[in-house]
Amino acid sequence: MAKKNKIFCVINLIILCNIIYGEDCTPKIAIIGGGIGGASASHYLTDLFKDDVDIDLFEADEIGGRLATLNINNDEYETGGSIIHSRNKLMRHFVQLLKLEDRPSELDMVAGIWNGDEFVFKESFYQMVSLVKLFYRYGLEPFELHRLLTNSILDDFDHIYNLQDDGIGFENISSLLSGMNHKFPEMLEISSKDFLLSQGYSHKLINELVEATLAVNYGQDTDVHSFVGFVSVAGAGSSLWSVKGGNKKVPENLIKKNKRIKVIPAVVNKINYAPKDDGSPEYHVFYNTGKFEDTWKTYDVVIIATPLTHDQKMPINFAGFPENVNFKFAGDYQTTYATFVKGKINPSYFKLEESIDAILSCNPNKTIMSSIGRLTTVEGNNSDVWKIFSRKPVEKNLISKVFLEVDEIKEIKWKAYPKYSTMESSNNFKLFDSLYHVNAIEWAASAMEMSAIGGRNIAILVHNDYKKKCNISQASGLKKIKNEQTSREL
Ligand SMILES: Cc1cc2nc3c(=O)[nH]c(=O)nc-3n(C[C@H](O)[C@H](O)[C@H](O)COP(=O)(O)OP(=O)(O)OC[C@H]3O[C@@H](n4cnc5c(N)ncnc54)[C@H](O)[C@@H]3O)c2cc1C
Repeated sequence: MAKKNKIFCVINLIILCNIIYGEDCTPKIAIIGGGIGGASASHYLTDLFKDDVDIDLFEADEIGGRLATLNINNDEYETGGSIIHSRNKLMRHFVQLLKLEDRPSELDMVAGIWNGDEFVFKESFYQMVSLVKLFYRYGLEPFELHRLLTNSILDDFDHIYNLQDDGIGFENISSLLSGMNHKFPEMLEISSKDFLLSQGYSHKLINELVEATLAVNYGQDTDVHSFVGFVSVAGAGSSLWSVKGGNKKVPENLIKKNKRIKVIPAVVNKINYAPKDDGSPEYHVFYNTGKFEDTWKTYDVVIIATPLTHDQKMPINFAGFPENVNFKFAGDYQTTYATFVKGKINPSYFKLEESIDAILSCNPNKTIMSSIGRLTTVEGNNSDVWKIFSRKPVEKNLISKVFLEVDEIKEIKWKAYPKYSTMESSNNFKLFDSLYHVNAIEWAASAMEMSAIGGRNIAILVHNDYKKKCNISQASGLKKIKNEQTSREL
């Protein structure tokens, strides 16, 4: 009899352990997209769940997504996201964690703002002379704008890091921005131009300096909302850095070094909501590896880490959801062409005597090229490769005018970032029960750090939501065992 009781106790203990530590509380998570957003989400998930999580990461193309490099003459060059702001804490944290290095940057680069006829502003080799020229053209405004950005907006932006350290997640962009500063959501409703005019800035500064940063960073103009406008201005400052070997090393290594991730190289084409008998959520993720017909796997949680607008190359369909749930993602992504030319630039095309390193257009409709800049390799070495950003393809005819000699031309077409306006956009990080979307954050501003913050936000939401459910199921599991024991004892 005593032996029988002992066996009974052991069985109970095993059931108890399973409920507390076992499958019930180890979520099976699908992440769709292996860019910096998906990589950040996966990193923070394993961190928060203390490895008690299983992640399948679906990637249809290259890990890194819009962080990518291109080989020209045996050297690699950034083709997508290239610069990181010095106050971007998550990117800095990843680089330190992964023991990567900063790319040596070229000092003394000279840039100018060109309107198609002349340079409205051109830097000098001497920083002091550049500052005097800046003052001469725009007065104190650029310095005031810099102060507003660094002492006010970036200080408020920094609050997100403390909130995330405290485990606070946000279900939509407005609440995330409110966490930084309760007035930030209003910045989505006013254009950059109107916001700056309301603060007393001149048309000249807005139409030249601010317009030029938006053309190079977002292929757009000052009608974009003012939050992304400030991110763009920050991205044109001097405290910028990149990762040696290529920024894509961050997502690549975050994913490769994470033992809880299995990478599935496949296109996801459908997410089917298939709740369990007890009503708890479960998803069937349908995917194609290119070798066989579509197949599917089951998950407790699905995280979409790629844009969902109608114009994406690999659309994802949603099925099985209640009829009142709407999966329409308004808006479009801006097409940006990155054209790489290895050759010798023609300064006389720009009415210059000698060439400068970066030319930013403040009138891209006229100049076709939004910007043209001489590149360093991902190792930080000088080169004679130039990158042109444009909204339309740059025709050979134009290239032959802009360059004296051309050795090689390569073009990449990106669906680069959202087309921003002051209209309401897809706002939700949480799409449905246990279904999340990292790239909602891009509608505030698209940047590596923003996707890293978006990924961490989703990891926090998943952890908070899942632990709540898990505690409930633990509690009901324990109650059930207790009831069973009591009825047996009776
Ligand atoms: C030309 C250009 C210049 C930029 N410059 C800068 C810059 O200087 N600084 C900066 O901070 N940011 C810059 N950005 C923005 C930055 O690159 C992006 O905001 C960021 O990389 C987005 O990362 P993500 O992980 O959210 O998305 P992505 O990198 O797009 O990752 C999504 C991934 O999902 C995969 N995928 C898509 N659909 C499916 C599917 N159905 N099934 C499976 N996999 C799928 C894709 O292949 C991709 O790898 C730039 C972007 C571009 C294009």
